[in-house]
Amino acid sequence: MKTPQFLAIEDAVRVKCEVLVSGLAVADRLQALTSQANPKKVHLYDYGVAVPPFTVPDDLILYRPHGFNTKPVIVRVRYNPRSHWLLDARDGTPILINRRDNVVRIVELPMRSPLEDQELAGLPLGSGVQKLGYDLLGVVPSNVCFYFKQGKECRFCELQDTYLHHRPFPRAAKTAEYLGDALAAAAGADPSAVHVQTTPGNLRSYDVTPRLIADMVVRARQQLGSRPLHIAAAVMPPSDLSIINVLKDSGLDEVYFNVEVVRRDLFRAIAPGKADYGYEKFLSAFRHALAVFGEGAVYSNLVYGVQSLPVSLSTTGWKHERENEEMLAAVDALLRLRVLPVFTIYHFTGRNSIGPIPLEASGLLEFTRDYGRAIARSEIRPQHAEGVISFSLGSLPNTTYNDGMALAVCSQKASAHAA
Ligand code: SF4
Repeated sequence: MKTPQFLAIEDAVRVKCEVLVSGLAVADRLQALTSQANPKKVHLYDYGVAVPPFTVPDDLILYRPHGFNTKPVIVRVRYNPRSHWLLDARDGTPILINRRDNVVRIVELPMRSPLEDQELAGLPLGSGVQKLGYDLLGVVPSNVCFYFKQGKECRFCELQDTYLHHRPFPRAAKTAEYLGDALAAAAGADPSAVHVQTTPGNLRSYDVTPRLIADMVVRARQQLGSRPLHIAAAVMPPSDLSIINVLKDSGLDEVYFNVEVVRRDLFRAIAPGKADYGYEKFLSAFRHALAVFGEGAVYSNLVYGVQSLPVSLSTTGWKHERENEEMLAAVDALLRLRVLPVFTIYHFTGRNSIGPIPLEASGLLEFTRDYGRAIARSEIRPQHAEGVISFSLGSLPNTTYNDGMALAVCSQKASAHAA
């Protein structure tokens, strides 16, 4: 039986899928509320399809569960002035309106983080570390990747052009010292930040990038002492697999080696640089990381939207049914390796060679549910875990994988209670 709690979460996740796929228009009236909200920022990518006329909030809280998981269902503001979803304000309260059926829901805006106003070494702290979602710090070691120089960038990636367009930070690459200090300062300034995700592009070599991450973590942990902070890093696996041990020894909690697609024929077409590194070498890196970090702490990302493309990468005739089938097959393949799959949702802001893909919210919701059930069935996550990653629902406004797991766990609990 579906409990009221489950139905409320399910409804919020449905709206989240729609808002992620369609984007969100923002009414002028909202401007009066935004000074207290966490402002929109370009972290790695610019997810909007247009530039908003004023500083809009980064995220919206759609639902705040009680009892099951105290963290909210949250969605990123992907600005699209033509979307039928409108973020507006009524009597000083933010509201979300579906302009197709005029259904209105009250939403919340995550509060502006104290670290927005901090500086380090004469630079805004946000140059190195940003508050994302509800309780997450995002670290940006670099907005460059050597694949772009080689013409072998992942075909969905907009990292470099986004940086060149917005230049959100004065330098595209930073030192481990600066990053470690910035991370410690940010964690000190914002007690609500309990998770860290760092996602660098590839620096000079496959071994330099993870070593920089390890040095950053050591430096931050030295300054943080016993302050709890869960740190995860997404990097290409090193050439020298023993560097995975260096990452673990630095105090890193979780590692992500992102294959992005699992279908072998598509791997080279979508990710030619990664294909040069080698699919088989990825598998060796997973095995090594599982031995070092342990099951449940090794992840890999898939991009929802590109799994069903032909090798020509033509998007003509794209169907969510086929995409969901391919995604679930990829999820199963990673789970068989005991690697936890996560996923990002394809977006296009005019800066990649694939172009727009007509994602459908209902298809994404269906996949989110099936994915959550597959993760729960795998029993890789500990019994008490309510998310695929240790971050809460509230950390992940841009994707729905923890929401899928939350739905599966909530449903299991309701069934157990009914029995
Ligand atoms: S590895 Fe691929 S996805 Fe990551 S920054 Fe480089 S090109 Fe982009």
